[in-house]
Amino acid sequence: MSEVLNVEEIFGSKVFTLGKMRERLPKSVYKEVKKIIDHGGELSLATADVVAKAMKDWAVENGATHYTHWFQPLTGITAEKHDAFVTHPDESGKMIMEFSGKELIKGEPDASSFPSGGLRATFEARGYTAWDITSPAFLKEDATGVILCIPTAFCSYKGEALDKKTPLLRSMEAVSTQALRIVRLFGNTEATKVVASVGPEQEYFLVDRDKYLKREDLIFAGRTLFGAPAPKGQELEDHYFGTIRERIGSFMKDLNIELWKLGVTAKTQHNEVAPAQHELAPIYETANIAVDHNQLVMETMKKVAGRHGMTCLLHEKPFAGVNGSGKHNNWSLGTDNGVNLLDPGDTPNENIQFLLVLACILKAVDTHADLLRQSASDVGNDHRLGANEAPPAIISVFLGEQLEDVVKQLVETGDATHSIQGGKLLTGVSTLPDLDKDATDRNRTSPFAFTGNKFEFRMVGSADSIASPNTTLNAIVAEAFCEAADLLEKADDFDIAVHDLIKKYLTEHQRIIFNGNGYSEEWVEEAARRGLPNIKSMVEASETLTTEKSIKLFEKFGIFTKAELESREEVLYETYSKTINIEALTMVDMAKKQYIPAVMEYTKTLADTVLAVKSAGADATVQTTALKSISEKLAEAQAAETSLEDKLAEAAGIEDPKKLAFFYKDVVHTAMDDLRAPVDALEMMVDKKVWPVPTYGDLIFEV
Ligand code: ADP
Ligand code: MG
Repeated sequence: MSEVLNVEEIFGSKVFTLGKMRERLPKSVYKEVKKIIDHGGELSLATADVVAKAMKDWAVENGATHYTHWFQPLTGITAEKHDAFVTHPDESGKMIMEFSGKELIKGEPDASSFPSGGLRATFEARGYTAWDITSPAFLKEDATGVILCIPTAFCSYKGEALDKKTPLLRSMEAVSTQALRIVRLFGNTEATKVVASVGPEQEYFLVDRDKYLKREDLIFAGRTLFGAPAPKGQELEDHYFGTIRERIGSFMKDLNIELWKLGVTAKTQHNEVAPAQHELAPIYETANIAVDHNQLVMETMKKVAGRHGMTCLLHEKPFAGVNGSGKHNNWSLGTDNGVNLLDPGDTPNENIQFLLVLACILKAVDTHADLLRQSASDVGNDHRLGANEAPPAIISVFLGEQLEDVVKQLVETGDATHSIQGGKLLTGVSTLPDLDKDATDRNRTSPFAFTGNKFEFRMVGSADSIASPNTTLNAIVAEAFCEAADLLEKADDFDIAVHDLIKKYLTEHQRIIFNGNGYSEEWVEEAARRGLPNIKSMVEASETLTTEKSIKLFEKFGIFTKAELESREEVLYETYSKTINIEALTMVDMAKKQYIPAVMEYTKTLADTVLAVKSAGADATVQTTALKSISEKLAEAQAAETSLEDKLAEAAGIEDPKKLAFFYKDVVHTAMDDLRAPVDALEMMVDKKVWPVPTYGDLIFEV
């Protein structure tokens, strides 16, 4: 028997939880902290000092030597700068470890080396990090020791957001304020806030570290830039939910333990569709904490994989022709007195508050489909969205049979008199129980699916932060709630007004509902007929941030200023160009230094063989034909490589960030495809022994 793992004991052991604060802080201080966590406000410096000391004592007892303000710049990952608790020694040379309230609540990292999209000139390097008191501090252990991490927001000297957390927190407040107006209309006077909850399902790949280290593309780009398909892919559907192999299992076990210690409720784990692909899902929690925890999940996956001699690939499309990775972002809104606004109950047709919320969400998603799509775009996700993989780049909403029927009744007659019920699922086996059936089947192809009491936004990329999608969701729904509340609060007859408004919204926005197969070609045509946007790339999606509609929305709720939106758009263009540039340079490098030389050498061996066979008086047709076709492909690869280098030189002359990004997307990308094709063809033509890097088969079937 293996050692018994006490999950209850280790859970949260590395987190400065509310429970620990209650134990360690004077009652009045604890109360003040709790009040701010629940309802906002500012900690006085005196109180902050007390909290900081308690936090430091706990951290030091647990081996910490340093602290860091842990933040999320626009790179999409996290940043940390460690400071030791060390202070000036006294005369006797003795040093006492200290941590002040000021250090806890405010940090001043040099902001000049983080992307700001022109918001901050390099001479205005100052940036500030401010403690997000609602997300608990935790201990991170790495080779440098144990570090106390304080989740923070990151802003410029002038208060402009330079990170992903600040706008998220702003959006959470906006949606709370507006949603409260809605629940008040229905008589809920007890709720004091509405919380956005998020449960992200994280997909990832694991590959053997030694093989990974032999592939420059994996090292520099996180994805393969070359590679012929293996003879077997995912067509047998034998990996999804398959038995977890031992090496992967021990990784998952270790990962769970690390995450539980960090207070992450790692709950579900399984093999995914593609070979070497897996998933982990925690239990949902408040949006900003879910965002922080998702960052920790990604970081921990990488760290733990290393311990097991593997590398975790979070890229959205590490292998062409094999299922990519996403992050299903489950999202809902609930009041602090326990009402999930997205719970339809058994008879949604009678649940007017739910119907209004639903109508508002449909309106929001239809009105801002472009922004929602943008929020899920990153460089890697371009290989999934719209590229014939899950899900399509067109935003639509799946409601399921029951709700679609209720919507239909409302739109057609103005009244919904009944709800389709799930009934019983008859198993046909006397020893098996007959099960209660959900009123709605699942749909796997919808980018935005209603799943019982939440929406599942399935476009998000696996490597991306989930901050932007949730910021956008909160913002667009806040706007719809606000507009509804503006009307309903002054209605003479509330019942009639709400009835009419639901009907109006549903009628005007029903085009966004689609329950069919989102992967089909017919849907693309149908969506175009409905006038739904089909934004094919991240670069095109970036433009949506600064439309008049977008600026109006985000400024109205104080989530982004126009300048912040413009800066973000610019950062996206820069990120895109830089990423594709790295990919292209990596391809050039691999082609010139690995593939072309390897094939050249092979042609020499072949040529020698041809001569030897001929001089032995035998028929060398096979060898000669092989030599000829390989040499042709080699010439093609060589020409494509030169052409790619030319394109990169051309790119270097383009200054405008947007133009440059479009150039990378349209021109450089095509040149990359043109180089990949002959190299992948060569891989299938030459002796495996001379191929300089591990193949797809080696990478995904032999982990
Ligand atoms: P699936 O069957 O879709 O793969 P999983 O069990 O893998 O589902 O993940 C579902 C996710 O949705 C989990 O993170 C879960 O905690 C989350 N979730 C459940 N209810 C809600 C809710 N009301 N709001 C937000 N997220 C939720
Ligand atoms: Mg899942």
